[in-house]
Amino acid sequence: MYIKDIFNAKKTSVSFEVFPPKKTEHFEGVRKAVAELSALRPDFISVTYGAGGGTSAYTADISAEIQNEHGITALSHLTCVASTKAEIERLTGNLREKGIKNILAMRGDIPEGDADFPNPKHYRYACELIAELKERGGFCIGGACYPEGHVECPDRETDLNNLKNKVDCGCDFLISQLFFDNESFLSFLERCAAKGITVPILAGIMPIQNAGQIRRMCAMSGATLPPKFTRMVERYQDDPASLTKAGIAYATDQIVDLIAAGVGGIHIYTMNKPFIAESVLKNIAGLI
Ligand SMILES: Cc1cc2nc3c(=O)[nH]c(=O)nc-3n(C[C@H](O)[C@H](O)[C@H](O)COP(=O)(O)OP(=O)(O)OC[C@H]3O[C@@H](n4cnc5c(N)ncnc54)[C@H](O)[C@@H]3O)c2cc1C
Repeated sequence: MYIKDIFNAKKTSVSFEVFPPKKTEHFEGVRKAVAELSALRPDFISVTYGAGGGTSAYTADISAEIQNEHGITALSHLTCVASTKAEIERLTGNLREKGIKNILAMRGDIPEGDADFPNPKHYRYACELIAELKERGGFCIGGACYPEGHVECPDRETDLNNLKNKVDCGCDFLISQLFFDNESFLSFLERCAAKGITVPILAGIMPIQNAGQIRRMCAMSGATLPPKFTRMVERYQDDPASLTKAGIAYATDQIVDLIAAGVGGIHIYTMNKPFIAESVLKNIAGLI
């Protein structure tokens, strides 16, 4: 199923993100987590793609398992920054063969110290990959977006103009970077609407589990930490079980508010933890 058709049929979609195993010996553990997450019947499950890393090979395998074994629509992430056109053709051909119909098409992070960037043989921006996929046809295409601006971009207006161009190149929907401040996401939606970006924009929500993870995520994403959130982390940072519980409560609170504000899709960064996704779903049961 094309993911764009899910949005047409539903008021609020709920979907999950998982990551593939980093090593072959972790494959069975990920398969088990994916089976348990699929049993929760989300609208779709996305599978990340480690740019140039060892996990890339497993993205298609895990996506196919989600779709063909568990009957849940899969969204395969794909990054292009360190790839040639021939490599992308091979990867998308593999996805096609496995019956995958949805791709989250991204640039990926520029590898550290990459003196080669931009390499004329590689892609420079996600919009180039998206335009190419659109032209070839056969896939429903998603793109990434950043309510608080992408870390490399000098200002939010430039980032929004780049996003508009990316959507015009062929995005059917967008999934946002994680955020902890709903106001930043809601004002981003308003700015997108004013810019003429009309595709569905899914809110990326991460129920946090430990203080180290928050530091890493925030360094990567530049997400604002509201005082309410920081107080919670400070209170429970040395007590992982309580922090996990508080993280689920915080994510639930965010989602309830987003649904009330009319947001059309919630994408939960599950970190491959079925218990967390299940707890959040139980909390919002009947509200969607
Ligand atoms: C929901 C989500 C899922 C993700 N999943 C993965 C994953 O699985 N694997 C992974 O490696 N990474 C993943 N990422 C991270 C992503 O790859 C990085 O944030 C990356 O740095 C940017 O990718 P992009 O596709 O958004 O890039 P782009 O849309 O190309 O934007 C990158 C930067 O270039 C600027 N820009 C864009 N177009 C132009 C243009 N035409 N001219 C000038 N400037 C331009 C933008 O403003 C931005 O600053 C994910 C991010 C999100 C939000």
